[in-house]
Amino acid sequence: MNAVFPGSFDPITSGHMDVLTRAAKMFEHVTLTVMHNARKQGKHLFTLEERLEILRAATAHLPNVSVDSFSGLLVDYMRQQQKSIILRGLRAVSDYEYELQIAHLNRQIGDAETVFIMAATRWSFVSSSMVREIASYGGDVSEMVPRASAEALRAKFADVYAERSGQTVSPES
Ligand code: ADP
Repeated sequence: MNAVFPGSFDPITSGHMDVLTRAAKMFEHVTLTVMHNARKQGKHLFTLEERLEILRAATAHLPNVSVDSFSGLLVDYMRQQQKSIILRGLRAVSDYEYELQIAHLNRQIGDAETVFIMAATRWSFVSSSMVREIASYGGDVSEMVPRASAEALRAKFADVYAERSGQTVSPES
């Protein structure tokens, strides 16, 4: 069976990677699909092309994972790709409430089944938005994201990281 893992992946985190890696052992093939909306383009830190590039680099070692993007309704994409299983990750009850509604709707309007994988406790507090926030102040996110995301964040906030490393003063001085 094949699955589609849809999301914004702005950028992909270690939590997403954990769900993806575990799913790749369960499904014959997993497609990581960046769902994008031209109207929301400005709301993302990384452009669609940048996100796709990060995803390709971060998943290059997973032979049964491919990367794609789609603008529109997920169920239309599923139909077009002849796929029927949506993969999502669950961190906390707050995720569940939102995901439950979407899962029911996707089944109703597209006959698509959603499979959930529980986030590993280690990554259950990691989100793309928190990672973006920390990186925007030059904080270290290297533990929370795959290397490709960390490098892209460092490049995006190069001036902040440079300034912050210049500011680091040793206690003796
Ligand atoms: P969306 O904008 O569709 O929520 P995201 O890229 O934020 O897209 O997340 C995609 C999926 O990955 C969602 O199901 C989300 O709950 C899940 N997810 C996000 N962060 C984590 C994490 N740290 N561990 C496990 N799953 C996660």
